[in-house]
Amino acid sequence: MTLFISTRDENSNPEKLNFEDVMLKGLAADGGLYVPDVWPTYSQDQWRSMVGKPYAEVALFVIAPFVGDCIPKAELKTMIDEAYASFSHKAVTPLTQLDTNQWLLELYHGPTIAFKDVAMQLIAKLMDRALTKRNLRSTIVCATSGDTGGAAVEAFLSCTRIDLFILHPDERVSPVQRRQMTTSGSANIYNIAVKGNFDDCQNQVKAMFNNPSFRAEVALSGVNSINWARIVAQVVYYVTASLALGGPDKKCDFTVPTGNFGDIFAGFVASKMGLPMGKLIIATNENDILKRALDTGHYDMHKVVATTSPSMDIQISSNFERLLFEASGRDAGQVNQMMNSLKQSDQFEIPSDTLKIINKGFATDKADENQVSAAMKNALQQNAKLIDPHTAVALHVAQQYSAAYDSPNNMVVLSTADPAKFPDAVKAATNIHPKLPNHLSDLFERTEKYDILPNDGNQITQYIKSNSRAVN
Ligand SMILES: *Cc1c(COP(=O)(O)O)cnc(C)c1O
Repeated sequence: MTLFISTRDENSNPEKLNFEDVMLKGLAADGGLYVPDVWPTYSQDQWRSMVGKPYAEVALFVIAPFVGDCIPKAELKTMIDEAYASFSHKAVTPLTQLDTNQWLLELYHGPTIAFKDVAMQLIAKLMDRALTKRNLRSTIVCATSGDTGGAAVEAFLSCTRIDLFILHPDERVSPVQRRQMTTSGSANIYNIAVKGNFDDCQNQVKAMFNNPSFRAEVALSGVNSINWARIVAQVVYYVTASLALGGPDKKCDFTVPTGNFGDIFAGFVASKMGLPMGKLIIATNENDILKRALDTGHYDMHKVVATTSPSMDIQISSNFERLLFEASGRDAGQVNQMMNSLKQSDQFEIPSDTLKIINKGFATDKADENQVSAAMKNALQQNAKLIDPHTAVALHVAQQYSAAYDSPNNMVVLSTADPAKFPDAVKAATNIHPKLPNHLSDLFERTEKYDILPNDGNQITQYIKSNSRAVN
């Protein structure tokens, strides 16, 4: 069964934890992220046996080796079936064809109409089960650039053992995004609008995880994309898309609108599990730290600029650490050096051998705001398809890539949100106001509940301590 190690554990015989432990911990005590000690792999024949199978069956196939004997397989199957029954499309993550070799992978048919539901619907069930089994309560604190928060609220609102605190950057999420977080009416959900940007929110959460006494006091847990259980749930749609388009005998290139590097890292995991994989193309908006890092080897933080794709408006791309660990040949010492440098001086150098390996599997480009707007307009004119600004970032980058390289593979563009989640930007580009689906049509009549706090660790932790029922 798969055990997990930290990307920063330099011990020659590192501590190894099981799936349930790493899910409940979120982040390792040394600040590192958990990765499998050994990658479970499937043969080509095993992948082929999954062609044409329903999403939930492929999900069980992909996820079970990581869970091992933490959860009996029949029980895991039930949780997976229930998680994906909440999606409004039978295929869960359907493909739509745009051009001869170009496809959109629609990840937004879950309850909050963005791709975060794919992982969050499942992790809530996994966590609730683990806490019930151990007779524990937990405080989950989560930083969001907009979509994670809503997905977490929707997934956790009926979890009786969990109090959920969501930190979002005040005035930097769309009104639809904010209302999806703040209108649940559920007593175990707390929203904090932080006077700062997403990186400030993420840093506050990281500081809480790096504070052992606070961590113990509130039984802290996390569901940000650094949580391994989220990554593994996202591997599934790379597999279903690839198998639907001729895999494992034919490869796909995937273009992924990237912020925290969780989504695209899941594609990398699929390749590590033995799924034949073309290029993984990192698409960024004007916050292009990953593009600059892969082009130059110099990871260097700039100021965050607000764009029409707010879920990608970040400068610290947390899951990139997992790739650095793999590409360095699992050299935790090298990872520690880079992460210490980042902490001290907001920058680090990627050693050239490591960079070379990254650039073999990945490509990258960015889209500026004009290009995003043009991509939305073109998709409507050429394909009669309304897309959201995050998807538009990826579509622009995918089209540039296809024009520059004559790839024999299918190109799959990950479509991460329903356009109705970002109506203003979509309207400005296309002159069409996208309508919310029926189950959200009264969103703007619901009562909101949230508190605004300064970007101040003491005040935020105090707020959590005085509200969480997990405090002991
Ligand atoms: C979160 C999000 C992204 C970025 O995903 P990462 O895993 O953070 O790279 C892209 N698009 C949308 C709509 C999102 O919500």
